[in-house]
Amino acid sequence: MKKEKTIALVAHDNIKPELVEWVDWNREMLLQHHLVCTGTTGRMVEETLNSKKTGKAKADVRLLKSGPLGGDQQLGAMIAEGKIDALIFFWDPMEAQPHDVDVKALLRLATLYNVPTAVNRSSADLIVSSALFDSDYEPIVKDYKNYVNRTLRQ
Ligand code: PGA
Repeated sequence: MKKEKTIALVAHDNIKPELVEWVDWNREMLLQHHLVCTGTTGRMVEETLNSKKTGKAKADVRLLKSGPLGGDQQLGAMIAEGKIDALIFFWDPMEAQPHDVDVKALLRLATLYNVPTAVNRSSADLIVSSALFDSDYEPIVKDYKNYVNRTLRQ
């Protein structure tokens, strides 16, 4: 994992204010990385990061589709392709989502590919403040060769 990372940011509607606050708090750090977000979250993240003038011209934010419209799945595909270094996902523990299956799939892939994942503010703080976060740390991804090459009876 390179020092300059690709960080995915997603928040469910009720938790978006918390993510925006976290993003604002961590703006200098986030401006050093590439960000990938589901649509609505991404617009808020962009607005927050670009609202103040700093040395860096603009935040590097890639917007995917809105989560319920396929954004979570797009992010899951990026994880499967090894394109995401960390996932910050403030999901709502108090409200069912229309796309709960996509949420589950995203968290499953993040776990499968050993992507550092934060699901709330404290875990997000701990991930980005870890000494390993600023290093070339490479998460070990389990070798699924045996699974891929398994023989199935016809
Ligand atoms: P949104 O999607 O950023 O487009 O609101 C978030 C989600 O619910 O996955």
